Amino acid sequence: MKSSPNPAKVALKWLKKAHYPDRHFPLVSKMSLEEFLKSPPPGFEYSSSGHFMGQRGDTKIYLGPSFFRTPKGSRRLGLLYHELGHDLTLKLRFNDWWLDVMTPFRQGHSLNFENNYGASNHPSEVIADAYSALVVHNGEHWFEDEKNKRLIKRIKQGARILGLPLKP
Ligand SMILES: [Zn+2]
Repeated sequence: MKSSPNPAKVALKWLKKAHYPDRHFPLVSKMSLEEFLKSPPPGFEYSSSGHFMGQRGDTKIYLGPSFFRTPKGSRRLGLLYHELGHDLTLKLRFNDWWLDVMTPFRQGHSLNFENNYGASNHPSEVIADAYSALVVHNGEHWFEDEKNKRLIKRIKQGARILGLPLKP
């Protein structure tokens, strides 16, 4: 049995490097592509490739054309917090932090995981979707079953360790 992750053992270097552009999320959620290109807020960059929605880089969030075709407001906020939520698996080791809470979501012997918060079945996407739902839509109260409650609890722990916001 794997015990709960020990926060002290989590890569501390990330604590010092933590840099989140979430203070600009309300602005970015309302910008047209033209406005964004004229003066991109710090921590964001435009990527023109294909149907690219968004991607988390080391220090930036990359936004693609389809992000700016998404209606302004809460849907875009959800996408931005989703990208930020990728830090939970980029900065906290999957086997140490997520394996035990994610195992009940695993679909058979595949590497697909049940996603109650979004569409993609990759575990890092499930966690990013759940984080976004928690922050933007108070997803804490969506599901009352044990596995979802444990996942949300672990996400809150991870977010606190990394200094990720838990409110919009
Ligand atoms: Zn994603």
